[in-house]
Amino acid sequence: MKKTIYDYTLSELQDSIKPSFRAKQIYNWIYKKYVTSYDDMKNIPKDLKADLIENYPIDICKIIAIEESSDGTKKYLFQYNDGKTAEAVLLLMKEKQKDEDGNIIKSEKYTFCVSSQVGCKVGCTFCLTAKGGFVRNLTPGEIATQISYLKKDNNIAENKAVNIVYMGMGEPLDNFDNVVKAIRIISDLDGLAISTRRQTISTSGLSTKIAKLGKLDLGVQLAISLHAVDDELRSELIPMNKAYNIQSIIDAVREFPIDARKKVMFEYLVIKDQNDDIKSADKLVKLLNGIDAKVNLIFFNPFPGTTYERPSKNSMIRFQDYLLSKKLMCTIRESKGIDISAACGQLKEKEQDGDS
Ligand code: SAH
Ligand code: SF4
Repeated sequence: MKKTIYDYTLSELQDSIKPSFRAKQIYNWIYKKYVTSYDDMKNIPKDLKADLIENYPIDICKIIAIEESSDGTKKYLFQYNDGKTAEAVLLLMKEKQKDEDGNIIKSEKYTFCVSSQVGCKVGCTFCLTAKGGFVRNLTPGEIATQISYLKKDNNIAENKAVNIVYMGMGEPLDNFDNVVKAIRIISDLDGLAISTRRQTISTSGLSTKIAKLGKLDLGVQLAISLHAVDDELRSELIPMNKAYNIQSIIDAVREFPIDARKKVMFEYLVIKDQNDDIKSADKLVKLLNGIDAKVNLIFFNPFPGTTYERPSKNSMIRFQDYLLSKKLMCTIRESKGIDISAACGQLKEKEQDGDS
């Protein structure tokens, strides 16, 4: 992909755009004011604009569809310059906060679920994204603009704190360099200024890359898509488990630098009659022993053609109760946006007219 202005960190732009203070102004325009055209950058001189248009294209994507769920979840379909598409989801939650007088007020809390690749190589048997195979990595700018475009479309103020989860399409650690660069761009105080502590990387468990990410000490949160407690079942669900088994993932997590106030999240996709029994719950407790962990149980979301089934609510609660009784923190993820196929594992590339 040809690079766009969004693909550069601020310091890279400061090195190449002269005078360098202009770089900060441009960053402000694109990431704080969500401007998508050089014409709208009022304090940038004309001759510089001409140079920017030539060397730093600003056209990166178009939003080609927006679907809104009855629960407020919105799913956006982005199309990039090569015609490929990826989805990003905006999740809305009410957050209780106290005002200056100590009264409880409810405010909106926004979480952006972003894609890191078009398709995915990992091939999990329960995931719809995997069905279309791998198409390509998203560039840092294609990741960052999922956020700036959604903020613009929803009139979200530049200084409103939002959370980012890399849980859309793709395996973020399989697109390591671009995702790390996106994190740096997204957290820049002169840009979107979203603290790395509010950014969660969800991975199917590429242990060597977890270790590599840990060494960078970016301050990001980690979520591990564990889903199974023995390698046999996990390899069936996540074929890549043959290369990176459960123990290797646990070892990598133990080394990962985690903010003292936070925990490592373990996502556990619950599939009826596969991994919803108490024996598995007990194994999970033992496996996570000594890790500051939080388990998030996810209902399997079925899709046409799958043989896996959604577990009953009762079995989810039984599983959760068992973990809680062993003092392991555990929540059940609310599935949001099911009616618009925006829920976990329901994102996939859309076939475009005329696209082969
Ligand atoms: N590739 C990364 C991040 C994207 S997937 C990962 O696997 O962690 C985001 C989450 O959606 C993962 O926890 C994944 O296991 C979950 N998921 C995938 N398919 C699902 C389905 N059919 N139902 C519910 N959750 C699913
Ligand atoms: Fe890829 Fe994650 Fe889907 Fe597995 S669950 S195929 S890693 S996107």
